[in-house]
Amino acid sequence: MSSEKIIIAIDGYSSSGKSTMARRLAKTIGYRYIDSGAMYRAVTLYAMRNGMINSDGSVATDMLTAALPAIHIDFKVQGDGQQTMLNGEIVESEIRTLEVSNHVSPVATIPAVRHALVRMQRDMGESKGIVMDGRDIGTIVFPAAEMKVFCNATPERRAERRYKELREKGADVTYEEVLANVTERDHIDMTRKESPLRCADDAVMLDNSAMTIDEQNEWLLRLFHSIVDK
Ligand code: C5P
Repeated sequence: MSSEKIIIAIDGYSSSGKSTMARRLAKTIGYRYIDSGAMYRAVTLYAMRNGMINSDGSVATDMLTAALPAIHIDFKVQGDGQQTMLNGEIVESEIRTLEVSNHVSPVATIPAVRHALVRMQRDMGESKGIVMDGRDIGTIVFPAAEMKVFCNATPERRAERRYKELREKGADVTYEEVLANVTERDHIDMTRKESPLRCADDAVMLDNSAMTIDEQNEWLLRLFHSIVDK
């Protein structure tokens, strides 16, 4: 087996189970895991807290663009997991609310936001040994990644998973609200001008609608070994 570390890009639709399997794979193989969606969520939280989301839901793009140098995002490793940090504050639970989910995709259409985050993501992958999940990791952030996966599942299945997750955290949301958010984000992510969500030509597709988490993890680990054990 080669001991050279590689870059693993896992992209896909909202709530398609990417983070769960990316995080698990990273732990199993001793790589660093980066949730790029958490970075877009942290910028969104900053915009919400600083009056940069207009009452009609649009983003005050110029204000947010000007504020980008003052937004510092990092991850703090804690036990088994990672906590997203926004300017030194742990915001892990704040960025997972439905309110942030409802504003994040418009924020992620802003080219200046994408450029700033892509730069940070590439720095994080400089020494390889990284599993990063998102929407544009295999296409834009790391087009030369040695392993690329593109995940999908039906919108209903994805909404069901996200709804369960939010309810377990005590959020007062309905399944219909979550389904509407998932489909709206798919639409914005796929149709935006700047790095839209699409499957890289050399990515391996995975539809996990009917798979358990364990089955997905095994599938991903097998794919990893088929690449590095060559
Ligand atoms: O992965 P997650 O659902 O947390 O991502 C939240 C949002 O951030 C996505 O719906 C998308 O609009 C944006 N995003 C992105 N590019 C990435 C990761 C996330 O545009 N690489």
